[in-house]
Amino acid sequence: MEKTTRTMPAHKHIALVAHDNCKPELLRWVAENKESLQGHFLYATGTTGSMLSKETGLAIKSMISGPMGGDQQLGALISEGKIDMLIFFWDPLNAVPHDPDVKALLRIASVWNIPTATNRATANFLIASPLLGQETDIEIPDYEAYLAKRT
Ligand code: PGA
Repeated sequence: MEKTTRTMPAHKHIALVAHDNCKPELLRWVAENKESLQGHFLYATGTTGSMLSKETGLAIKSMISGPMGGDQQLGALISEGKIDMLIFFWDPLNAVPHDPDVKALLRIASVWNIPTATNRATANFLIASPLLGQETDIEIPDYEAYLAKRT
């Protein structure tokens, strides 16, 4: 598919997700980076969001819990261009009941070319990027052009 560009705002819309064994790790990362994160709009799956807002005081828009559909809600927002970055501490050592949803979320983040961190080191690189605090263009699939050619 051809590409077009989407301009991400300076104040990013950032989705935060952690599987149960990884929640302490995400909490530590968010607490360490609270100052940088509070300038952006934060989203999370249900249990992750409830824990993070309680422990850090950050304003977070929480979806339904991941296994109940929260990953899919975030995926829908990504496909609508409403999420700019995904920090997803998924658990590589344990099976989860909603594995298809996890794969779908990671897949849709790739389709829409949003910066995605699946571990702490990558999350550190993203939070340190000068692009985090400025408008920046990303390439996305040009679905309108695709449709126009087909009709
Ligand atoms: P949770 O969901 O934040 O509701 O635990 C996370 C996930 O498993 O996707």
